[in-house]
Amino acid sequence: MTTAVREVSVFGDGIAYFNEAAALLELDATMRAILTHPTRQIIFSIPFQRDNGEFEVYTGYRVQYSFARGPAKGGIRFHPGVTLDEVTALAFWMTWKCAVVDLPFGGGKGGVTCDPTKLSQGELERITRRYAAELVEVVGPDKDVPAPDVNTNPQTMAWFMDTYSMHMRQAIPGVVTGKPLAIGGSKGRVEATGRGVMICGMDELANMGIRPQDARIVIQGFGNVGRWAAELFQLRGCKVVGISDVTGAYYNENGIDVSQAVVHTERNHNLEGFKGGDKISNSELLVADCEVLVPAALEKVLTPENAGKVNAKLIVEGANGPTTPEADRIFNERGITVIPDIMANAGGVTVSYFEWVQDRMGYFWKLNEVNDRLEDTLITNFHELRGVSKRHGIPYRTSAYMIAIDRVVQALKLRGVYA
Ligand code: NAD
Repeated sequence: MTTAVREVSVFGDGIAYFNEAAALLELDATMRAILTHPTRQIIFSIPFQRDNGEFEVYTGYRVQYSFARGPAKGGIRFHPGVTLDEVTALAFWMTWKCAVVDLPFGGGKGGVTCDPTKLSQGELERITRRYAAELVEVVGPDKDVPAPDVNTNPQTMAWFMDTYSMHMRQAIPGVVTGKPLAIGGSKGRVEATGRGVMICGMDELANMGIRPQDARIVIQGFGNVGRWAAELFQLRGCKVVGISDVTGAYYNENGIDVSQAVVHTERNHNLEGFKGGDKISNSELLVADCEVLVPAALEKVLTPENAGKVNAKLIVEGANGPTTPEADRIFNERGITVIPDIMANAGGVTVSYFEWVQDRMGYFWKLNEVNDRLEDTLITNFHELRGVSKRHGIPYRTSAYMIAIDRVVQALKLRGVYA
């Protein structure tokens, strides 16, 4: 039996956080060994025909990391950098994210090594359908429920759902989430991650005694997560003073008109040329004066190089893995509160769960019902996390991992090891 945690290169940081929490939980060697091995890894070939008639063969992956608490759950990524190692690490992370908000799911992730920018819609459809067909036996509403991730979207999910349904000879919308509304998607799914970031952020601001009108927010990334977080923070009375995307950052101490920025990006596809604030660099944005910093773009942007200069009181991790473990230690020493990614950006997977529930019932909720349930789920679990943090005198991140690992371990122990 391997007792040491194996090196998962892309997600070494995730493993480091896991180890810290596992030590505090005094997790025994058997549990550590089970939890640091993926349950199932699938690698397969995807031969497909290019529009010019020629054939190419790509590689597809699906990793079902854990089924302890329910069907595997996690997105499908189309990217040239997809490897088995990366997909495994992402599936590992999904296991904790689902558990920390108490969803009845395990963790999974999938991907195809390809460059979608060089593929036509028809080619993407053929790749998706072959990818889905290869997985017919091992996915399904009670087995493994994929969703969109980098470079996949509701249309990809529609092709996946249709392929699976054709093989099953009946419509099975619950095989994937993040679908278009017309075929069983959920209201509120698109903005759910940004909404979750706002919900956690507002709750923590209240806990810190900071009134919304005194809260200046800075957001890195103006995509699905960042844009919705910005709009919703502003709607709750906060002042968004900084935003950015890959083209640059904008700061306005009097407050940025977020709806103007949204219109600008819808017209121009990015923030380039936005007139609603002074242009600064992305690195200046991360250390700008504010109460709340929301990294919502990339991983590893808060590092030992800038952590000492960050001017926020609260960091809400919209992105996955934006803080390196060294930077995290600096924030802890400086008394800067960090709401970790597995809690702060769990709004998306929570509404994915609601979509799966609605598909299984065949009854669809109104938007306010989705939003109310999302707020309830996130607040209930965030308050539990805060309680654990206070009781043990540990940062939120460690308590999040402790809660998540403990929930998975409880399920594993009750089910026992079928050996
Ligand atoms: P997206 O592609 O819609 O947006 C990403 C944004 O980041 C874009 O505005 C892009 O211009 C910007 N960006 C890229 N490089 C940048 C740089 N160097 N500096 C500043 N900005 C930069 O992606 P998204 O769906 O909003 O996801 C953002 C992050 O949130 C990712 O880490 C993702 O894994 C995570 N996340 C997303 C969801 C979801 O539901 N979309 C759920 C959980 C976690």
